[in-house]
Amino acid sequence: MRLADHLAHALDDLRSRDLFRKPATVRGPQGRHVTIEGRAFLNFASNDYLGLAGHAALRAAAAAALRDDGVGTGASRLVSGDRETHRAAERRLARFVGAPAALLFSSGYAANVGVLDALLGADDLVLSDAANHASLIDGCRLARARVLVHPHGDLGAVEALLTAHRASARLCLVVTDAVFSMDGDTAPLAGLAALCEAHGADLYVDEAHALGVLGPGGAGASARAGIAPAVRIGTLGKAFGTAGAFVAGSDALVAFLENRARSFVYSTGPLPALAASASAAADLVAAADDRRDRLHRHAARLRAFLRGRGHDAPDQDGPIVPLVLGDPAAALDAARRLRDLGVFCPAIRPPTVPPGTSRLRLVPTAAHEDADLDQLLDALDTLPTIRRSRPCPDTASS
Ligand SMILES: *Cc1c(COP(=O)(O)O)cnc(C)c1O
Repeated sequence: MRLADHLAHALDDLRSRDLFRKPATVRGPQGRHVTIEGRAFLNFASNDYLGLAGHAALRAAAAAALRDDGVGTGASRLVSGDRETHRAAERRLARFVGAPAALLFSSGYAANVGVLDALLGADDLVLSDAANHASLIDGCRLARARVLVHPHGDLGAVEALLTAHRASARLCLVVTDAVFSMDGDTAPLAGLAALCEAHGADLYVDEAHALGVLGPGGAGASARAGIAPAVRIGTLGKAFGTAGAFVAGSDALVAFLENRARSFVYSTGPLPALAASASAAADLVAAADDRRDRLHRHAARLRAFLRGRGHDAPDQDGPIVPLVLGDPAAALDAARRLRDLGVFCPAIRPPTVPPGTSRLRLVPTAAHEDADLDQLLDALDTLPTIRRSRPCPDTASS
């Protein structure tokens, strides 16, 4: 078969199963609203949890770095050189999470793939939560380590795997999202850390959806749990409102990764403007308790609403609120209905979530006002799934 035929067939297949995806074209910074084809929509589709992506201080920091350092870095930092902007951001981010050192990457995906591949080899073992992010899964694959997947959030299963398999491996990493990106729940980090201690394993925590949101000053879920994982990943494209990511850990970890993480060594250094905006974001995020309170209040209200309508919405504390609908077609239909009512929240379908669990991933942010949540809840109330499951029908006479 030639490539053109393969592509035509594969795209037809995706379309026929309601799995074809294409991004909307939006205008303006992330925030309460996005503009699509000239119309403003309430934005419940963004991981800009604290509403900082359009913040004047981030724009100013990026603009100053563009002025002073230009746009591109020219090559890998190992080749064309480090900038004080990069190093300052790394010191600031390490301090932010309470780790000795940090290293910037151009994205969270690049960080996870590069770090896991650098740390692990064929003699090593990974215990991986079934709901871990794709970038963690890909990093383990690239490393050719032995990967044992355990049921989501199941400490007993982790303990059983450690007991049965730890001794046969050189290194053993227990790898987990801190807040799971599609379910919104939090990993049992204190329990995982204790198991790692007891079995001579090391903990690897991806704080993508916890950084800036949970813990004192937004320092993350590990800081809140009072643990210091051997490896922590923070992404800067979510609550930090910019782009890129960092790994935080010991000085030795960072020195090793500078030499061995292929997505650091063989990739052009992040824009100085990215590093500068990350430093500015760290200052804003550390002082953003008011924004965190607003975010948590909105998320709690949304969860209580869904529970009141008979949906499963456990009382968690992260910003991600899934409404699981089942088929891709059901999720697409719900997203279309919301969009007709001025609410932007795309359908999340396989392979991002397991088959049969297509969903709306509702994400309130600190940029929303109470009236925005009113509008979202009113829009959700028009969905057939919400109406059907309403516990006490108050429209029985109509
Ligand atoms: C978003 C995300 C990433 C990827 O980060 P990017 O900077 O967007 O590449 C990695 N891990 C988790 C858990 C994420 O949610």
